Amino acid sequence: MGAPGLQAVAAPFDAERVKREFPILARPVHGKPLVYLDNAATAQKPRAVIERLARYYEEENANVHRGVHLLSERATAAYEGARARVARFLGARDPREVIFVRGTTEAINLVAQTFGRARVGPGDEVLITGMEHHSNIVPWQMLCREKGATLRIVPVSDAGDIDLADLERLLGPRTRLLAIAHVSNALGTVNPVKEAVARAHAVGVPVLVDGAQGAPHLPVDVGDLGCDFYAFSGHKVYGPTGIGALWGRLELLEEMPPWQGGGDMILSVSFERTVYNRVPYKFEAGTPDMAGAAGLATALDWMAGLGPEALLAHERDLAGYAAEQLAAVPGARLVGTPRERAGVVSFVLKDVHPHDIGTILDREGVAIRTGHHCAQPLMSRFGLAATARASFAVYNTRADVDALVRGLEKVRRMLG
Ligand code: PLP
Repeated sequence: MGAPGLQAVAAPFDAERVKREFPILARPVHGKPLVYLDNAATAQKPRAVIERLARYYEEENANVHRGVHLLSERATAAYEGARARVARFLGARDPREVIFVRGTTEAINLVAQTFGRARVGPGDEVLITGMEHHSNIVPWQMLCREKGATLRIVPVSDAGDIDLADLERLLGPRTRLLAIAHVSNALGTVNPVKEAVARAHAVGVPVLVDGAQGAPHLPVDVGDLGCDFYAFSGHKVYGPTGIGALWGRLELLEEMPPWQGGGDMILSVSFERTVYNRVPYKFEAGTPDMAGAAGLATALDWMAGLGPEALLAHERDLAGYAAEQLAAVPGARLVGTPRERAGVVSFVLKDVHPHDIGTILDREGVAIRTGHHCAQPLMSRFGLAATARASFAVYNTRADVDALVRGLEKVRRMLG
């Protein structure tokens, strides 16, 4: 117990200590210490997650839901325990609202192919924003093409923000769904999702939030956001690849038709008729990624152990510092200066092609991403084919940003 009258003060966030929990970050690249700034693409995995995967296969592996033997019970417990853990992470009322999928892409396709197919018809509209990842464009485009519906786009400002007045104007009597990124993977923009949901719900339009870049950086509470679907990928929240989750409002999930057919999604099958299983199993045909789910639960525990406020403050500081330092590099221009930023800074450097920036930085041990970031319509909006993007995680430090800036000096000397 602390001395009377003294408030407990959280220990300062020690990113260097956090970094030491990631074996891959200790490996040199081209003989240089690795500075990993490609976290928006995928985050590295802490030892706890790697060990959890090994333990699952060494001690628990069997197929879920089907066996009466001990290992099947253990595997089922790990898998269903992970579902409850994900529900807690998202602030969901009920674990049945969590469907395990491969990742955000699969989650969005699931909603498009079930909810979308049932609700969208000829002449209807689906509304998205101009900053969406291809995963939150193409499934809706495919659906609209199939149904004779129209995809409408909320424009993006020069700063990389959307205007809620535009959104309100575009929510029409034929709008059947709004699909919006929590955080833009290409610009780092934090969208005003809660306000967007309120606007959409005011005219009876359900909302899907693409949380691929929200879940790693921001506290997520689906009840507070008020949305109807929330999708995220395990591999971006320090979990394994191949696992992610779709959260959906129970009433909606219950009314939605199933997507893929197969084992586990049925209660009974005859050649004449199949009775589908209840939610969430109705949407989980076939053997799921049990090890991945267990690893994801461990990743979420691990993140929670860092303290969500400390994590948020650390990443805010990093993104702000990076934006400031990059803006000061001669010839560099930030692409997107949004009102609120999380985890990502995109930039271009005078006449240097972003791929050349990426290649030279790689020789310095600095890993960034260059290209269109699976957001080609957004790149076109800014008149660009590509940008260079640095994206941050809990283990990054201001020293990593300094290494990036030093690398850019080298790029300028070589090509500028
Ligand atoms: N949405 C956003 C905003 C993303 O950044 C990404 C991946 O980068 C995705 C969707 C797709 O995620 P995944 O490839 O894990 O399905």
